[in-house]
Amino acid sequence: MKCEPGAQRTYDVVKWVRSRTDVGTPHLGAVVVVGTKRRPKWAILACPCGCGEILNVNLMRSHRPFWRLWVSDNEVTLRPSLWLRHGCRSHFLITDGYVDWMGSEEYLDWPDSNASD
Ligand SMILES: [Zn+2]
Repeated sequence: MKCEPGAQRTYDVVKWVRSRTDVGTPHLGAVVVVGTKRRPKWAILACPCGCGEILNVNLMRSHRPFWRLWVSDNEVTLRPSLWLRHGCRSHFLITDGYVDWMGSEEYLDWPDSNASD
């Protein structure tokens, strides 16, 4: 699948696993949650642009930054927005399973990651 930031995407599959080793590689449209419903630890998903990047989103409040996850009828909401500082630089929100692409202006001023690394 080609990298297509801004494409209309949904996440409508939610899989719960107990351990990071059970995650595998989530396909586009699926979110794998590590942990239990009471104590989710990680949300793992493929970047919605299709670039193939796998995002590991921390849900544990003991680690920062952390995101909040809501799941209802296999529809996922994640807050705040997610963005990739490398590669495709996608910046998006997931609400009720739908991807809302955010403007790129928020990170236009960032130093180029290749230059600073
Ligand atoms: Zn991407």
